[in-house]
Amino acid sequence: MERLKNYWNEFLEILEKKEEYNAITLLESSAFIIDENNNPTIVCSGDFAATHIKKDFLKRIEDFFKEKCENDIDIKIVVDADFIKENNIKKEIKEDIRENTINNVNSEKKIDKYNLTNLKKEFRFDNFIYGNNNRHIFELAKLVSSKPGTEYNPLYIYGSVGIGKTHILQAIGNNYLEINKNAKILYIEGSGFRDEYIHGLQIKKPDIFKRKYKSLDMFLLDDLQLLESAQETSKELFEIFQVLYNAGKQMVFVSDKPPKELRNIEARLKNRFEQSLIWQIEPPQYETRLAIIERKVKDLNTSIDKEIMKYMAENITTDVRKIEGAIKSYLSVRDIMKITPNVSQCDEMNIFKDYFTSKPKLQNATVREIKKRVSDYYGIEISLLDSKDRTKFISKARHVAMYLACEYSKKSVTEIGLDFNRDHASVIHGRDKIREELKSNSHLSLEIDQIISSFNHS
Ligand code: ADP
Ligand code: MG
Repeated sequence: MERLKNYWNEFLEILEKKEEYNAITLLESSAFIIDENNNPTIVCSGDFAATHIKKDFLKRIEDFFKEKCENDIDIKIVVDADFIKENNIKKEIKEDIRENTINNVNSEKKIDKYNLTNLKKEFRFDNFIYGNNNRHIFELAKLVSSKPGTEYNPLYIYGSVGIGKTHILQAIGNNYLEINKNAKILYIEGSGFRDEYIHGLQIKKPDIFKRKYKSLDMFLLDDLQLLESAQETSKELFEIFQVLYNAGKQMVFVSDKPPKELRNIEARLKNRFEQSLIWQIEPPQYETRLAIIERKVKDLNTSIDKEIMKYMAENITTDVRKIEGAIKSYLSVRDIMKITPNVSQCDEMNIFKDYFTSKPKLQNATVREIKKRVSDYYGIEISLLDSKDRTKFISKARHVAMYLACEYSKKSVTEIGLDFNRDHASVIHGRDKIREELKSNSHLSLEIDQIISSFNHS
């Protein structure tokens, strides 16, 4: 049990090192004890502290303990103001930390340096799977992490949700840490950065915040869009940017949008972003999605029928995070019900319903409506879709319209053919061409998504 107490102190030391003063203030005013039933317990002085600790820190503390003990540790939280008062907790813990830090001139030895970076070990280059469309960003990220602060500084990466932005960003940090164990690397999300800055102001110690960031060797800022409308924080970020840039320290920024679309952010900062090397991560293509699925299944030490994996790859088109859920969902059915569902059974049992990229309900769309949306989208006359015009652009629009008509209208290919002034074979050809291309062309799938969503808007 003494062991747990030591871990607790170690946790506080890490907070101190990370200069997370809001957390320290909160935990300092509480006590960590082993109660009469041998349960690790945090005693708080009031409801506010208890709620705050439960909401913002409990999971982190438990995870930390779990890592140390290699088993789950449940920590109770109780409120007992008298206990806190009688034991003069605040002072005691504070001195504990100070003593520990002073006694540990070499405190790096005791605290795992890794904990200071906020990085997670599972985000590495060797388990990031890329296809042709993301090979460049992958190589670029590797270069940046092996020669930080040189050619590609700063790097600005953007892209939609769940496509590996955080993975790549943290892999840069993890890889650099392997090369240079002493590098001061910090990964943080926009919201965390903002909260830290505001807290620094609240406790009237903004300098600590500034010093911490300006002394970094590598600064990895995730979800930068969360700083939109946080004008003051973005001003501060601009200052940090200048210092790090002039010192040749690598910065990598990640956002869900390109710099020019950032709103309500310090103009000079936006301008710096616009001058950065900007690169978009694209959603993985079909082959890559399949490879990701195969890899995840392998990591789980199991196997799944290839047809099922292909089915998943075809239908989870945007958010890679959903892949993990879909695999778990399938395995749970297989393990619990002792059956191995095939594709149509998966549908009947709705195994994937929460994970597949939803097809909007266009079921009642008429071929005429589809033709109208498609021609509007591509900015062409609707009559060109039925014409003999074989210009590449027109043919493509026609194929997209045929594809959508097959997928969403209730008509047969022969009936659809009549609507396009063609026979059923041409319709099948058009439909299959698009189906095939969708497997590797993420721009096309974006276009089709946009056409489909235009149906929902009016
Ligand atoms: P984002 O930050 O873009 O929203 P994440 O980086 O958090 O997405 O990725 C979501 C999940 O999917 C993570 O578990 C990540 O490891 C995984 N992932 C995403 N893309 C890939 C990829 N290309 N190869 C392997 N895993 C990936
Ligand atoms: Mg992310």
